[in-house]
Amino acid sequence: MNPIENILQKFPLVILDGAMATELERHGCDLNDSLWSATILMENPELIKQVHTDYFTAGADCAITASYQATVEGFARRGLSEGEALILIQTSVQIALKARDEFWGKSENRSNRPKPLVAGSIGPYGAFLADGSEYRGDYTLTEDELMNFHRPRMKALIDAGADILACETIPCLMEARAIVRLLEEFPRTYAWISFSAKDGLHISDGTPVVECAEWLDKHDQVTAVGINCTRPQYISSLIKKVHSHTVKPIIVYPNLGEQYDAVTKTWHGASSEETYGDSTHHWYECGARLIGGCCRTKPENITTIAAWAR
Ligand SMILES: [Zn+2]
Repeated sequence: MNPIENILQKFPLVILDGAMATELERHGCDLNDSLWSATILMENPELIKQVHTDYFTAGADCAITASYQATVEGFARRGLSEGEALILIQTSVQIALKARDEFWGKSENRSNRPKPLVAGSIGPYGAFLADGSEYRGDYTLTEDELMNFHRPRMKALIDAGADILACETIPCLMEARAIVRLLEEFPRTYAWISFSAKDGLHISDGTPVVECAEWLDKHDQVTAVGINCTRPQYISSLIKKVHSHTVKPIIVYPNLGEQYDAVTKTWHGASSEETYGDSTHHWYECGARLIGGCCRTKPENITTIAAWAR
């Protein structure tokens, strides 16, 4: 059963959550670290659960697990064994499932909304490199090597019980192809594929977004196609382009428009927070059917989506 189609048969859209990492920072965590929010899986799993709960309360129909930067190779740099790394990756799913089940266990939370999903986050290879290449896609790996990189985490997230996979901030079509080919090894699993984009027409490595949409349209396990961690100003154009080349639901969860400096790991420039709620409604009218927020977005931004969507 395709979990996204399931919700969209009864509701106008799937409301996604907002940022995990920047929300943890707001709670005082220091994430200036190559493993980013993955370190908190080791140090403070209760806080991750709290952030998931905050997003469900704000209206999110889907929690994205804190595994974006959690990889076997990344944890190995911290001296963790493969087994220990896989346990932490599975922990990210267990925390989100626990938050979801506790939230859904209260009858007052169950009116006029679907049971929330838990989406296992699969960040791109560039997020493991932690050098900003998830916004460039200038990888030196082959497609088969990318499959090998993604395989252990994908399996761990599925084994831990994720409802769906969130393959996000993908900067190049080759990595999307590697993930979709790998997905065929897990034939009962659905995934969304979401790219980072550099403008209103192209994903980060310069490939036209229409080419990506057209390729993904042919693959049954891909449940939605779209864009995340991109400036809001490009989103309407990108939705229209994706829409013209696929019948799949379109997913968008941009950041707040600031620019990320991968060297200092800080954000700069103007934020579009004030207009975020209105923008999300506009993206729905353009054709998006899964809408949330990426870096810097907060539970308040998700509340503004629920305000017009429910
Ligand atoms: Zn982001």
